[in-house]
Amino acid sequence: MKALKVDHIGIAVKDLDETIKFYQDVLGLELHGSEVVEEQKVRVAFLPVGDTEVELLESTSEDGPIAKFIEKNGEGVQHIAFKVDDIEEAIEYMHSKGMKMIDETPRYGAGGAKIAFVHPKSSHRVLVELCERK
Ligand code: ZN
Repeated sequence: MKALKVDHIGIAVKDLDETIKFYQDVLGLELHGSEVVEEQKVRVAFLPVGDTEVELLESTSEDGPIAKFIEKNGEGVQHIAFKVDDIEEAIEYMHSKGMKMIDETPRYGAGGAKIAFVHPKSSHRVLVELCERK
């Protein structure tokens, strides 16, 4: 397995609409859509930049993972996603390297991607997402 590129950078924000303005008006990015991922209790907005993306994440619930992250750390970078060819193969490979996974099986992320998180204990305290996208 090999990480192919940084698929996106996940940033936890308190106010999605307010934050989007910074990326649009100051950095000149374009909003490429937004969606609610019920399972993650999150509203997500995508702003492509080069061949990667900024993914802004706003919690839709006080007990969602993004709300908890902000409570603990404040707003900011929450995860980095690396594109992989085959998510199942990537999870197996991670196991073979002794990595601890948060997701033992792939789940569906925003934009129809198949994703799995590596436990930050295994990845030097960075929440790493593996992401397969067609
Ligand atoms: Zn992500």
